[in-house]
Amino acid sequence: MNTLKIMQKAVEDYKNIESKRYLGIFGNPIKHTLSPIIHDTISDELSLEERYIPFEIQDDLGRYVKEAFEDGIVGLNITVPYKEKVIPYLSDIDEDAKKIGAVNTLVRCENGYKGYNTDMEGLYKSIIEAGMNIKDNEIIMLGAGGAARAVAYMCLKYGAKKVYIVNRSLENATRLAKDMNELLREKNSSEKINTSLNDIEKFIPLKADEYNEIPQGRYMFIQCTSVGLKAEDGLPLIFDKEFYKQASCAVDLIYNPAKTQFIKLMEENNIPAINGLKMLLYQGIIANELWNGITVNADLSEKIFVALNKKLYC
Ligand code: NDP
Repeated sequence: MNTLKIMQKAVEDYKNIESKRYLGIFGNPIKHTLSPIIHDTISDELSLEERYIPFEIQDDLGRYVKEAFEDGIVGLNITVPYKEKVIPYLSDIDEDAKKIGAVNTLVRCENGYKGYNTDMEGLYKSIIEAGMNIKDNEIIMLGAGGAARAVAYMCLKYGAKKVYIVNRSLENATRLAKDMNELLREKNSSEKINTSLNDIEKFIPLKADEYNEIPQGRYMFIQCTSVGLKAEDGLPLIFDKEFYKQASCAVDLIYNPAKTQFIKLMEENNIPAINGLKMLLYQGIIANELWNGITVNADLSEKIFVALNKKLYC
């Protein structure tokens, strides 16, 4: 079956579901996505009569975005591997998403879709809710992939003091740090803020085996590699357990398993640590708020969070 037929079949399937408005997600693979739980719960609880449909697409992304628009789809999420690739097919893009260089949410506008990145704000909300903070904090990021771009931009936007980006490949860490330092320079110059050299070099790239170059201190750790997804995975990038004792608090973007070796080690050291499930929850809620012009209250957020936990861990 070719990709168009898969799309058509999915479209036929969702049209058989009694609903007024359609939402969806484009990605590959998409079988295990938890997003329908978030959006169908919101729809049911608020009587929005919407259904959220996962579309596994192989290629020809531009054509599917166009078809989704012609089909009247109100909003879409975009996931791996299309978060950067979708940008040329948008009619407009939010400033933050443009700077991150990745889009996970498409909002229907008059002539096409406008792209947003709700991963970044979702993560920030989960961090603040956990009593952690970015402002004036020194941060060690592990990883420099797609998700790390949103994390690094969050550190920039919310005023982190210094950010070390440690990665397996120095090249990817260097590119990310360079992009962020450049954005910081632009931000400071547009706001007419005098910058010291320290500000300009706020993002420091390091290869994993150079971790000893980070000065001893108290750091917020944000784990953005995919190490920990598999049961046999150990600690990400740095195996020296003493190193992690510098953490004041910790975030792992991974939520399945609920506790990676990284989270377990933080807990052994009595360091407050959260996984990425609240990030997933809030990126979905913020997307839905954009699609529907609503505000999802704390009770409904909690209800969705319980449903996600049940699906994942019970
Ligand atoms: P990418 O594939 O874009 O990046 C993967 C990162 O992990 C890179 O830094 C890569 O290093 C590093 N890495 C991969 N394998 C290894 C390894 N064996 N040893 C050391 N480093 C490794 O993935 P994403 O950035 O999209 O996702 C990263 C994680 O974030 C995933 O676990 C994903 O599940 C999670 N995530 C969670 C979300 C949430 O809502 N909670 C949202 C998005 C992502 P290198 O650059 O050298 O290749």
